[in-house]
Amino acid sequence: MTELPWLSRFVDRFPGDPVRENAIRCVQGVLYSEVQPTPVRLPQLMAWSDSLANELGIASPSLLEDEILIKLLAGNYVSPKMKPYAARYGGHQFGSWAGQLGDGRAITLGEVVTAKSIRREFQLKGAGPTPYSRMADGRAVLRSSIREFLCSEAMYFLGIPTTRALSLVTTGEGVIRDFFYDGHPKAEPGAIICRVSPSFLRFGNFEILAAYQELSLLKDLAQFVIQDHYPELDPKDPHVYEKFLCEVSKKTAWMIAHWMRVGFVHGVMNTDNMSILGLTLDYGPYGWLESYDPSWTPNMIDADRGRYGFGNQPSIAQWNLTRLCEAFLPLVRDEARVYESLEIYRVTFEQVHKAMLSKKLGLESLDSQDTQELVKNLWILLQAFETDYTIFFRLLCDWTIEQNDKSHENPGDKFIHLISPAFYSIRSIEPHLREQWIYWSEKYTAILKLIESKDARRRAQMKLVNPKYVLRNYLAQNVIEAAQNGDFSPLNRLFRVLKAPYEDQPQEEDLAVKPPEWARKAPGYSTLSCSS
Ligand code: AMP
Ligand code: MG
Repeated sequence: MTELPWLSRFVDRFPGDPVRENAIRCVQGVLYSEVQPTPVRLPQLMAWSDSLANELGIASPSLLEDEILIKLLAGNYVSPKMKPYAARYGGHQFGSWAGQLGDGRAITLGEVVTAKSIRREFQLKGAGPTPYSRMADGRAVLRSSIREFLCSEAMYFLGIPTTRALSLVTTGEGVIRDFFYDGHPKAEPGAIICRVSPSFLRFGNFEILAAYQELSLLKDLAQFVIQDHYPELDPKDPHVYEKFLCEVSKKTAWMIAHWMRVGFVHGVMNTDNMSILGLTLDYGPYGWLESYDPSWTPNMIDADRGRYGFGNQPSIAQWNLTRLCEAFLPLVRDEARVYESLEIYRVTFEQVHKAMLSKKLGLESLDSQDTQELVKNLWILLQAFETDYTIFFRLLCDWTIEQNDKSHENPGDKFIHLISPAFYSIRSIEPHLREQWIYWSEKYTAILKLIESKDARRRAQMKLVNPKYVLRNYLAQNVIEAAQNGDFSPLNRLFRVLKAPYEDQPQEEDLAVKPPEWARKAPGYSTLSCSS
């Protein structure tokens, strides 16, 4: 990796901060500040994504012995061809303009174009302070680094647009954090991950330029992104920015539809965490829906308000896109067309979400009144019965209508028996409530019987969209606690299982079950703080 042909196009092409001192400040009129990672005491490589390395053509043999590589992944070695920098961006946080944010602890090392012509940006997260670190230390704790490493890769294997993670290095240094923000800070082990993405640019990189009226920079940055990532657009087209916003809207709609499909809750959908490429970005207090509840968020500080709760994600994405549109207003000729992109977002999301939902249920479409009724009642039942979202849909893949016709068992009993591992609530055994599920299953079965496709084929296809393994917070917390005690093998096992989330892995059943009762409300196991 040290021998890779590193490029620094961003630094070479755009104006950077003239001040070279690494001190916190307000930066204006530029897109980034050049900054060196701060070396750490004792870097040790603890996790590595073979699949990403293979994709990039990076050799991963004898990693533990490759001292230079580990130094590079820890920020202790910077190749002479690199020009590391922290990007300047702003953002709307929890509904209000927050001003300058920027890469406060992420440092881009550079770009690489691989032998397969894949262009990727490499970024260290937790590599030390930058001019954008505000009041913080530029570091990351092991627990949040494990969470980001695992989730980036888990999302990739789920088929969801995301930034990736190549490595996780422990630093041998402590980082002080106050997990509950209650005046009890303590030292935690520190870590650094190396993130990889076609680009880490966010809505906020554009918003800050509009906020400070730096319009020629705004235009140059937009042209850069369009040329690199939206080759279908003609950069000289007089309506290119309106069209660009439409494309960003479509990509964002797809990303959100995927999140809804697998029950992912990002937790902090501020505009500085929204990728301009529609990739899931910045894994903080995220989580997966367990007991179905659209208002649920894993983010402790948002629990009361629920702004970024599961069911709000589609409309929050639209709110964020609206802020992006506003940032582009000074560049466009046709204001009305800018806002058309929001309608494109809405329509794309609705279509894709519906198509995904219909696949989750093994149906051909959700167009008929019967299917719409079926879905509406499903949401009511899932919530009323405190039903695990992932387990329910996965079990539904095993509902066989052909067998029902032959078997002597009552189909209603059989259905309840099939899905009951997904229930949290003991109310599920109450007869009158049980009847509602049976009624739902009868309607579902009747609709399935109208479908011509073979039953076995339908079930196999359902398994391709309903994952068996997702990164539940309690699973992440278990591997974090082991890692904090020096044992990284549970992490590597979980990582291996998450690489095949749609496959039944009979040896790994224990990673596909509901959290134990005590973990359902415990901090770290269910809800997370932003302290990371
Ligand atoms: P986040 O909520 O993690 O997306 O971060 C919001 C802003 O805070 C970004 O500008 C981050 O770079 C910055 N930030 C978060 N944690 C740290 C840290 N430990 N040190 C410096 N900056 C940080
Ligand atoms: Mg962020």
